Amino acid sequence: DEAPTKPRGGLLGRLMGRSSESEPRRVLDDDMLEQLEELLIASDMGVDTALRVTSNMAEGRLGKRLSSREIKELLAKEIAQVMEHVAKPLPIYAKRPQVVLVVGVNGSGKTTTIGKLASQFKASGKNVVIAAGDTFRAAAVEQLQVWGDRAGVPVLTAPEGSDPASLAFDAMTRAEEEGADLLMIDTAGRLQNRADLMEELAKIVRVIRKKDESAPHNTLLVLDATTGQNALSQVETFQKLADVSGLVMTKLDGTAKGGVLVALADKFGLPIHAIGVGEQIEDLDAFDPEEFAAALTG
Ligand code: GDP
Repeated sequence: DEAPTKPRGGLLGRLMGRSSESEPRRVLDDDMLEQLEELLIASDMGVDTALRVTSNMAEGRLGKRLSSREIKELLAKEIAQVMEHVAKPLPIYAKRPQVVLVVGVNGSGKTTTIGKLASQFKASGKNVVIAAGDTFRAAAVEQLQVWGDRAGVPVLTAPEGSDPASLAFDAMTRAEEEGADLLMIDTAGRLQNRADLMEELAKIVRVIRKKDESAPHNTLLVLDATTGQNALSQVETFQKLADVSGLVMTKLDGTAKGGVLVALADKFGLPIHAIGVGEQIEDLDAFDPEEFAAALTG
């Protein structure tokens, strides 16, 4: 069975071929370690994390003969360990409505992820409302409506170019009136003008706090795995723009570059709430570090 947690096709497979216990064992020496480091770096794990993973793995084992399966398993164990503490589904609070602000650059998969999450929460019996807060992109609003229809969840919109904060305020009112469990607010992702975006996000937060001082309860940053190491700088940028509380990594299907997720866990320690593994509504998985590490090392 193919592990649902992509990436497909492991990195180490390329170095070591098919793994089997019967194949010749290789000595774990500096040369071998360097090759492993290079593979991990090629998966977008970043130099620091790759070095830490390989040196932890080699501890007490240098000079030993290991089969490639043993090497993969040891490496996968180290990788899973880096990620263990970040694997956490989106926490659900008693507070109603729980307000989830969704941030990220355009194209990262915000709209799709909101649709997928809405569908999952709806299926688990939650009453969900979505606010189409990227009021400057008509196409984004339309797309969110399509996802809302698919998930069977109402999407609140405002005319193109109108104030996202006032939409967010109206959405709070509506969510309260409807006794919604969850309000997910999409936001703009125009990084070209950071000062504007920062002001826009701050205003949304200010306005929803007039309704509920504890909101937003989550600020979810959506990242695209295919941007590789760029995801790291996106986290830094968005941490300056908003109070990021957790991550969703999208497009982990069909890429062997998922190593960036290990680097993210290592560097920021932010919870990874879910991973996107396709374009369909059901293509959002809980993040499972062991499965992920096994798929990455392959
Ligand atoms: P937004 O601009 O951040 O709202 O991004 P969208 O949600 O519109 O997604 C941008 C593109 O990425 C769309 O073509 C989506 O179908 C695609 N996409 C989103 N999530 C995933 C995923 O997990 N896997 C794949 N393969 N594509 C995705």
